[in-house]
Amino acid sequence: MSRTVYVNGAYVPEEDAKISVFDRGFLFADGVYEVCSVLQGKLLETEGHVTRLHRSLNELDIAAPCSDEELLGAMEKLVADNGVDEGLVYLQVTRGAADRDFAYPKDAKPSLVMFTQKKNLLTDPVAEKGVAVITLPDLRWARRDIKTVGLLYPCMAKMEAKAKGAQDAWLLDDDGFVTEGTSNNAYIVTADDKIVTRQLSNSILHGITRRSILAIAQELGMVVEERPFTPAEAYAAKEAFTTSASSFAMPVISIDENIIASGKPGEVTKKLRDKYIELSLSA
Ligand code: PMP
Repeated sequence: MSRTVYVNGAYVPEEDAKISVFDRGFLFADGVYEVCSVLQGKLLETEGHVTRLHRSLNELDIAAPCSDEELLGAMEKLVADNGVDEGLVYLQVTRGAADRDFAYPKDAKPSLVMFTQKKNLLTDPVAEKGVAVITLPDLRWARRDIKTVGLLYPCMAKMEAKAKGAQDAWLLDDDGFVTEGTSNNAYIVTADDKIVTRQLSNSILHGITRRSILAIAQELGMVVEERPFTPAEAYAAKEAFTTSASSFAMPVISIDENIIASGKPGEVTKKLRDKYIELSLSA
């Protein structure tokens, strides 16, 4: 069944959804994106995602393609038209099409493309079991706080993880500390029950789910420490997990083939995941 895709104001069947070969998103990865989850037909965390979209656009001097009302209206229409009960909306804004030149063109019109993907988020078998990760050097560019579509290194890292029998990679800065996962923020729970995750900076994406999960942790009386941690500390942790819009809180059960605690998803991770889902469904 063909989806309806949004392309610059038009709702078209996916086979007809096309952009210019001169689009700078295609030529230079000159664009940014957001992923918003959908539960029971309702978009989650739209305010956080729209705010971060504006931040990414501002950092790159790309104009907003439309008003926030138009953007949210189009996202809701796509969800409804495609009958998405559970899944996500992917949206991408690029600087637009112009003859190829490194300098930003003066007159390019930003381009906005959106599509939906159906996905089981609540009963995700991967979340029941947890994932295995490996660590790899973080070879991405240094402005990871901007959510650009330049995702080739994360693709390479995921392929390397797969080749080694794992599902994902945690990336390491030059000092050997974990920055984040290829497409998620990374956490450990220490022996004394502290939740540790790297502090916000240009080194990581400022996850929208991260913000909510840390707020939930604090509300539940858990102690949160925002600081870098090493793989060695992670191997010895009580629990490890990741967060992202489409996976909520995802247990990590092994790191570089070191089994974390019992090798089963941890209690803290489960509690945070369940509470995040409960709050999302009741919002
Ligand atoms: N870090 C990276 C590198 C990501 O790609 C993502 C998800 N796109 C995240 C963290 C998680 O961010 P969010 O919770 O906003 O999905």
